[in-house]
Amino acid sequence: MSTENYYEILGVSRDATQEEIKAAYRKAALKYHPDRNPGNKEAEEMFKKASEAYSVLGDPQKKAQYDAYGKVGNYGGINWDSDIFDDFSDLFGSFFGFGDIFGGSRRRGPQKGSDLRYDIEITLEDVYKGLEKEIEIPLEEICEDCSGSGAREGKKIRCPACEGRGNIFYQQGFFSVSRTCPQCAGEGYIAKEKCSSCKGTGKIHRTKTIKVKIPLGVENGTMLKVSGQGEMGLRGGRRGDLYIAVFVKEHPIFKRKGSDLLCKINISLPEAVLGTEYEITTLEGKKKKVKIPENTQNGKIFRIEGMGLPSINGRRNGDLFVEVNLLTPHKISKEEKELWQKLYELEMKKSEKKESFFKRIFKGE
Ligand SMILES: [Zn+2]
Ligand SMILES: [Zn+2]
Repeated sequence: MSTENYYEILGVSRDATQEEIKAAYRKAALKYHPDRNPGNKEAEEMFKKASEAYSVLGDPQKKAQYDAYGKVGNYGGINWDSDIFDDFSDLFGSFFGFGDIFGGSRRRGPQKGSDLRYDIEITLEDVYKGLEKEIEIPLEEICEDCSGSGAREGKKIRCPACEGRGNIFYQQGFFSVSRTCPQCAGEGYIAKEKCSSCKGTGKIHRTKTIKVKIPLGVENGTMLKVSGQGEMGLRGGRRGDLYIAVFVKEHPIFKRKGSDLLCKINISLPEAVLGTEYEITTLEGKKKKVKIPENTQNGKIFRIEGMGLPSINGRRNGDLFVEVNLLTPHKISKEEKELWQKLYELEMKKSEKKESFFKRIFKGE
């Protein structure tokens, strides 16, 4: 699977209409069509990429899915690279202003709640099998008992310090200086009595458990969007969204490239020369035999079709690539040494007939 952004491949913006996407695809397809570019590998690659991009973006349902499961940094207006999302407490910094609810001077329209981000680390086995996990999200909600006012039964009185003006004046030399009233924070009203449920803050902290399904074949860094599970909106605004950033731990044996897996196996020299069967434990925990034929060279890569990871777009599984690493013996017995000596002599004889691999190496051929 290509790792490039489909929007970039077609050269359209994220809010492009279906007509624009179609037009962009038609243009790319005409330009890179193999019939027009015979033997041009690059054009062929571009043609394939554009077709793949269009197969997703040209289908509103697939497009929506792609938008939701897109990669880090693709979400408009949210800078996921920034550290500010590393801590939930930072997100709580956006507080619910009581003044607005209580007819303060800065009455505004509905405001969508803050988005939340949750980081989750999974294993390569989870990528293979898929994962359903319950996660706990810390949430800040408006206190129901006081409707977020922080005042018991919502009752507020005019601030005695500023008499409802929100500012207090004091004399400094000849000047009368105004500053925000410290008692009511400029609101002009204070709670008659503090709400006991929220201790006057107007906010309640709680955790919510939600079940998340991590899709098969998920890529490292994928951002899953869970709509409407973020923080509460203000003044009737809708809830924010929850973004789950999925990080895949490195596997001790298998390396990943898209949906393909790569691993190295150690084979002794006699095994490589005579051929053998090597048993691999797959991500499923199953044993799989790999046939190593006679005279296998160091670095030889065997491809086992369909033994890679499932692909996120539901295509066939990736492949498993097994690379042979030849091991030279560390310690050999007297008997082995004699045999290697014999082998060496045979090789030397062959070298006179220009057949030896020793000779090939010495000559650098
Ligand atoms: Zn005041
Ligand atoms: Zn309260």
